[in-house]
Amino acid sequence: CGFVAIVGRPNVGKSTLLNRLLGQKVSITSKKPQTTRHRILGIHTEDIYQTIYVDTPGLHLDEQRAINRLMNRAASSSLGDVEMVIFVVDGTRWTEDDELVLRKLEHQKAPVVLAVNKIDNIKDKDEELLPHIQELATKYDFFNILPISAKQGKNVEQLITWSQQLLPQNVHFFP
Ligand code: GDP
Repeated sequence: CGFVAIVGRPNVGKSTLLNRLLGQKVSITSKKPQTTRHRILGIHTEDIYQTIYVDTPGLHLDEQRAINRLMNRAASSSLGDVEMVIFVVDGTRWTEDDELVLRKLEHQKAPVVLAVNKIDNIKDKDEELLPHIQELATKYDFFNILPISAKQGKNVEQLITWSQQLLPQNVHFFP
């Protein structure tokens, strides 16, 4: 236990969000599973989406074993031991792949926050997409939906607050 997973298809802004959340520049360009640097335990790439596994500090784990276990579980389409999932989508571009991920996450035990990113790029706030995403999220029973801008930091504080409420009391993800 003690991991947070940031999930989403490529280019939705996962790395940008992670840098915001951790308040530091982290290197996560590698698509291959890798040893932790700055608390990133590994990146798992499926056909259509990637998962970044982030360590939560204060836990003493055999990292290599933990990574292998997570990777194996990820490979069998289950996020396994994560404490929380942040599902990132691009608020300006919803695709069928996003819905596939949404369906996969439906049976997650850990709480899922749906972060609708890039809202700074949504010119017309009444555009169709946000309501559409909201509708889908309701259909799949996600209650934690938050429009954000990882780039501008908009609502990122709110995401941190929610996460702290959703995580178990002994797990602290954020600095
Ligand atoms: P990842 O592949 O999911 O990790 O996505 P990245 O974090 O690498 O971001 C992909 C692209 O989207 C980059 O060019 C980012 O600058 C851009 N991006 C990320 N977040 C935002 C955002 O909130 N607003 C806008 N306008 N662009 C963003």
